[in-house]
Amino acid sequence: MLSTIIPKARPVLSNRRTIFNAIQRAREKTKSEKPPPPVAIPPTKRLAIVTCMDARINPFEQLGISKGEAHIIRNAGGMAKDALRSLVISQRLLGTRAIDVYHHTGCGMVTFKSPELRRLVKWGSPDDPACAEQIDSMDFLEFSDLEQSVKDDVNFLKESPLILKGTKIQGFIYHLETGEATRVI
Ligand SMILES: [Zn+2]
Repeated sequence: MLSTIIPKARPVLSNRRTIFNAIQRAREKTKSEKPPPPVAIPPTKRLAIVTCMDARINPFEQLGISKGEAHIIRNAGGMAKDALRSLVISQRLLGTRAIDVYHHTGCGMVTFKSPELRRLVKWGSPDDPACAEQIDSMDFLEFSDLEQSVKDDVNFLKESPLILKGTKIQGFIYHLETGEATRVI
């Protein structure tokens, strides 16, 4: 149910200030240090990772990636369709030749259906035909079977005419509870 995943209203402004302050503090901390060597724009592993925007996932830490090694494309669910625009840029302009898709246990994408989310948006923006029209044509790409969703996304990318032939595409499930990843396809 949507109500189970939508947190109670929190003071957004103070959160934003906190994040801004944290960035400032991090910057201050590194100011006295020698600047890191410049990193080239193309990822050194020639890898693009598609994963969920879930705030509990830290791809650098949990997927063993360091700065400069891979593109990390994040969206709700880590859905390949949603990542396609970025993948085209990643492959054609920045030379990546492998794609890893990571979906994860406990994902919010299994907790709702598009029609109820559309109703929620319209309820929050009543008498707004432009909003209603756009939300009615939006596919939120929710899924019910985690393993199948990984297979579907990998197959979608393999069949996409926009993805370069010969791209190595793999699909994984990241287990939030254990910090382990298992390969699905
Ligand atoms: Zn998720």
